[in-house]
This record gives sequence, C-alpha cells and structure tokens, in this order.
Amino acid sequence: MKLSKQASPSDSSHTQTSTVPQPDQHSALILVDLQNDFFPGGALAVPEANSLIPLINAYIKHFSRQGWPILATRDWHPANHSSFTEQQGPWPTHGVQGSRGAQFHSDLVLPPGMMVISKGTDPKKDSRSGFDGTSLADRLEDLNIQTLYVLGLPTEDCVKHTVLDGCQRGLRVVLLTDATKGGNPQQDNSRNALQEMADAGACLANISDMGISTSSL
Ligand code: ZN
Repeated sequence: MKLSKQASPSDSSHTQTSTVPQPDQHSALILVDLQNDFFPGGALAVPEANSLIPLINAYIKHFSRQGWPILATRDWHPANHSSFTEQQGPWPTHGVQGSRGAQFHSDLVLPPGMMVISKGTDPKKDSRSGFDGTSLADRLEDLNIQTLYVLGLPTEDCVKHTVLDGCQRGLRVVLLTDATKGGNPQQDNSRNALQEMADAGACLANISDMGISTSSL
C-alpha cells in the first residue's frame, strides 16, 4: 500500500498522512453489515471474520464511552430480492428480513440506542453502500457528523462502497483496517480495495493509531 510522507495537519493537499484524525463529537463509528450471514457459518461468510470481534468491540466501547454516535448498516432484503440466485442474481439468499442470518453477530457488544440503517429493502434494487437508498446521509447530517470511522464486512464490497460514498460526499473517512476483512483473502480484492479507498482520500488506520488500549484484547 502506498503511504504518503508525514504531512502537517494544515497541509490539505495530503489526504493520506501518517497523522490519523482523532474522533470527537463530530465523528461517528459505522459498523458495516456485521450480520451472521457474513460470518463463518453464514450464507456469504467472510473467512475468519470471528477473529475481528474483540477489536470491533473495543472500537464500539471507545465510541460509546464518549457518547459519540454509532450506526450499524445491515442487509435487510425481502425474501424475493433480485440479488439472490433464485431470482437470477449473483448471490445466495442472505440478509433476509427477520431471519437469523440477518441478525447482528451475538458476540458483538452493541450499545443501547445504536442506530440501524437497513439497505437493500427494495426487491428490485441492491445496495452495496450504506448510503445507497437509505437514511444514512440524513442521519449523519442531523448529527452534524464530519468524520466517519468505518469497519465491517466485506472489505472489497459493502465496506469499500460505503467508504467511497462517504469520501464523495465530502466527509472525512477513516477505514479501520484491522476491523475489516475481505471475502476472498487468497485474492488481491481486499488489497486493491484498500488502495482504491486510500486513493479516494480515505485514511487507513488501526487500533494503535486511535490511542485505544489493546491490553485487554
Ligand atoms: Zn445483500
């Protein structure tokens, strides 16, 4: 991955810097599709995604302790969704409204009052980005959010599209790389996706950049 040289915070020509923006009250944590169907045993499992859960919980705790907003996107498809193979779509049936596969993984410690953004609810339309056809942009605007911290599954699909949309909407976006995983770890998809997000202006960070203690992990 390409890394730019150290830039001062005032140097706006560098979108990728080794200085990771620290979250504040104008920041939100975005959890992308942390549903059973994207974990091992699910319909569209990301291999070894379970290994991310302690880190994801640490990020959630960090944000909820400060009272900063946490929003979770989820695939919330009707049973006849056009993306399913039965409807000549590309994917096996997944994320069906009310199904076990659509529930958030039970090992996640989700905060009370977490906002849930459902996507892909129209049978005829698929939404890979959390912004696509949802209330996410309005919610962020209502909360006066300027910076997104994004984690979730899978890196090269819904995470990437959410990050790219956030960048395009003029938000500052930090991808938490140690809390995302790709569906095809053997292939270059994830690495290419990281490069694409960095090229779009997203900052790539991990838990040590965020000043979060990992001693309890
Ligand atoms: Zn889907």
